[in-house]
Amino acid sequence: MLWGRDNDSYMFRDAPDLRRCVTCGDPLEAHYINPGFVLRRRQYDISATYDGVVIASHRLREWTLRHKVEGAEWTPLPSERDFFVLTATRAVAFDAKARRTRISPPCPSCGRPHSVAGAAPALLQVSGPLLGGFYRTDLEFGSGVEKHPLLMIDLTTGEKLLRERMAGLEVERACTAG
Ligand SMILES: [Zn+2]
Repeated sequence: MLWGRDNDSYMFRDAPDLRRCVTCGDPLEAHYINPGFVLRRRQYDISATYDGVVIASHRLREWTLRHKVEGAEWTPLPSERDFFVLTATRAVAFDAKARRTRISPPCPSCGRPHSVAGAAPALLQVSGPLLGGFYRTDLEFGSGVEKHPLLMIDLTTGEKLLRERMAGLEVERACTAG
């Protein structure tokens, strides 16, 4: 599991063009990019907004492209040209039952639960180690607008990234219930 330090920024705040659920207010676009997004702490190669969006530097993107790390999607930020939103294209099943994750009832309009609590330490439903790059959990954690999947990376690449001293990077080993 990998994540980044807080960057003291918001993706969904001051976002007049964001479509939201009329009942619960959650964003209806999974990959919404705020055209006026301001990154307040710029020293990190990987960081996270208060509303759960992972921001990656040009340096991190170049490294993963050069090492042919798969499964990452890099969405440009029109207002922050040296940074990207990092998401994973492949999903891996989170073991919510074994983790005893608490999922609130679904919103009657958009179907999303208001809150999903109990992510760490991450438990996955996989038959072996993750291989070859980035993944996301099939479950989003947090409450309201901040809900987001956990970002996962295979162990070899995660250790390489730590050796590269990517600023802001945090890595923690996930496991299975068995
Ligand atoms: Zn809703």
